Amino acid sequence: MIVQLGEDQTLEEARSAALRFVLETKAPVVGHLAEAAPPRRWRPSKRLLHIERERFNHKVAMTPVVVAAIRHAMSEIFGEFRLEANLREDDKQKKAANKINAAPLAAALKKSLRPVYEEGVRSANAELGATARFVSRVDEINPTGALDALYARTLEFAREVTDREKVGIKDILLRSIADGLSGVEAGERISEYLAEGIHVNTDRALNLDSWAEMVGRTEVSQAHNDAIFAVYEAAGVAQWRFMTSEDDRTCPECEDLDGEVFDLNEGEEPPIHVLCRCTSVSVEAGYDGDDGDVLAGEGE
Ligand SMILES: [Zn+2]
Repeated sequence: MIVQLGEDQTLEEARSAALRFVLETKAPVVGHLAEAAPPRRWRPSKRLLHIERERFNHKVAMTPVVVAAIRHAMSEIFGEFRLEANLREDDKQKKAANKINAAPLAAALKKSLRPVYEEGVRSANAELGATARFVSRVDEINPTGALDALYARTLEFAREVTDREKVGIKDILLRSIADGLSGVEAGERISEYLAEGIHVNTDRALNLDSWAEMVGRTEVSQAHNDAIFAVYEAAGVAQWRFMTSEDDRTCPECEDLDGEVFDLNEGEEPPIHVLCRCTSVSVEAGYDGDDGDVLAGEGE
């Protein structure tokens, strides 16, 4: 099951909805499985395939650092809370809930995603540098404004994540008071709640490792693709093509988009769902000297 990111849906909502996908597919998300791949609707050049593989491999290589940073930040945020969860008075509990803040997660994402973004910039520059039209302009393109946008987005995400836990804890406190529980008993309830893991909605939680893995992979993909599009924009690329990794784990939604051409700032830019591994390549006339980039059935 794949959940698309709807227009009125926040990234976090889409992530929550996509959890079933993560939980129900036990298959590893890393690595290419070439067998049983459906035939492409278009025929990418060897060079495009090389770009796609290189990007995929870079993202896989960079993901563990991001996942570890996320895991560490979340332990820091909630580990500190657990120490205070056994305090007796309810008002202290409220104070403790208010101490949960997004800063460590936002900082971890900012720091660990920066190299991913830079790799995306490098990769897009390298891709365009091989194209006659761009050859004199690339290597200088370093779209820093887009990096700020990435940071703003990750901060918003960090706030959504921590706010949800904060609301959950405060709800437990209110119910504990209504039930006439002591501070210690309320603390126990909160400890149980936190032990469930990271809550993706009010009644679903994912253990920290799985959650960090899911968020890390998706954020890596997002940062990498954001960088590529920022370079395209700065370079004046007119059109881009959606490119899947085309294997038997490519989801139907992505497969439908494989090879599709869009004007810049149009179309669904990857990643289009949680754990999406797709990328984009620029479309330029005379782009490639080998076997061309043609849609199957066209020009044959
Ligand atoms: Zn995809």
